[in-house]
Amino acid sequence: MESEKSSHGANHHTNVACPFCGILCDDLEIGPSSEGLKVLKNGCVKSVAGFERKLVEPSPQVDGKDVSLDEAIAAAARLIRESHLPIFGGLATDVEGVRAIMALAEKGGGIVDHALSDAQYRNFKVLQTSGWVMTTLTEARNRADLFIIAGSDVHKLHPRFFERIVCNEASMFSDNPPKRTVVFLGEGLDQSAVKGNRIGEVLTLPVKTDRIGEVLDAMRALNKGATITGDNIGGLPRAAVEDLLERCKAASYGVVVWAPPSLSFANADLTVQAVSEFVKDINLTSRFAGLALGGNEGAVSAGAVCGWQSGFPLRVSFASGKPDYDSERYAMNRMLYAKESDLLLWLASFTPDLSPPDTDIPMILLGTPSIKPARTPKVYIPVGTPGIDHAGIMVRVDNVVSLPLRKLRNSTLPRAADVLEKIEAAL
Ligand code: SF4
Repeated sequence: MESEKSSHGANHHTNVACPFCGILCDDLEIGPSSEGLKVLKNGCVKSVAGFERKLVEPSPQVDGKDVSLDEAIAAAARLIRESHLPIFGGLATDVEGVRAIMALAEKGGGIVDHALSDAQYRNFKVLQTSGWVMTTLTEARNRADLFIIAGSDVHKLHPRFFERIVCNEASMFSDNPPKRTVVFLGEGLDQSAVKGNRIGEVLTLPVKTDRIGEVLDAMRALNKGATITGDNIGGLPRAAVEDLLERCKAASYGVVVWAPPSLSFANADLTVQAVSEFVKDINLTSRFAGLALGGNEGAVSAGAVCGWQSGFPLRVSFASGKPDYDSERYAMNRMLYAKESDLLLWLASFTPDLSPPDTDIPMILLGTPSIKPARTPKVYIPVGTPGIDHAGIMVRVDNVVSLPLRKLRNSTLPRAADVLEKIEAAL
């Protein structure tokens, strides 16, 4: 998957896939600039920050001093060999990078966990305990006539979601499809991107995020014919909730969208469960589905590879020599807090913003240049970004498509997968 150039000239790339959030838009145009790369078309604030980040190529370091890559790899291998229980965390990389860190964790007898697992587990718990009815980005884009955005600042987390999935003027089945209704269920959600000919009504129901579950549960009850007394449901007027239920029942394809990182309050998995159960009920008489976003920093690729290689979702320990899954016991932050680990390997290859947790145990940091850990790591190896410095593959947020990433510039920054394989070989 070397760089594909267009007729515009050398270093002008079309149909580029963007790795900087989970929806992996694959229509960007990237060209050269005096400082490196420039997003020419179909960018967003996140992709511009990622692709246009200036190339810096710092040296690997041990104890804050510049060393060769081989010396840094040897030092990392020594630390893992001497560790009783290493954590392999962050996991912000492409499929090959996750494959390599899983293999290293297996050989090193450690635990794997992604930086965004806390948010992902708001979904996993529901999927594991009661199942759900979900759709894909493509299905939602082409079929939905009602979108409910549940308590999530989708535009901030995925800046082109509305443009690509909700506001598209044509669909796979019609050049002139019917207008769509978009309901924002939550407070202070950015609605600015919901515009254009495809959009019919835009409704705002300002309910506190941690009360969305109450609204959905009430709608379920009303749908089953139950009586609910009182004029206030979850902070909303009863009439607004009844109106939303009627819209859901009348929709030919409704979609409830949420992004787990936005549901950041105690027991938020119960809100995801309320959404999920509502969707199941409405689905008995109409077509309705959920669409969970998130998946930034390679979280979906990490979860997928963990499943392929260990047979379990993330939060797996190889300490016993075989994979052992426990979503609570092997939660990285809990383990660090309880001082159950004596070494952290942190991998963050997309942005310098994914800093490792502040911990006083020794750290091996494989990171994007300019990443700023709170403490000097024992070993620091700067690595390239998939989709810019090297080719790769990532799994999209809806788990149904893997997209190829291209190498867009020449850099000396190594692939995380190559570094990890060398550390494993040196163990
Ligand atoms: S919305 Fe996400 S995938 Fe699309 S261009 Fe922006 S950061 Fe990249």
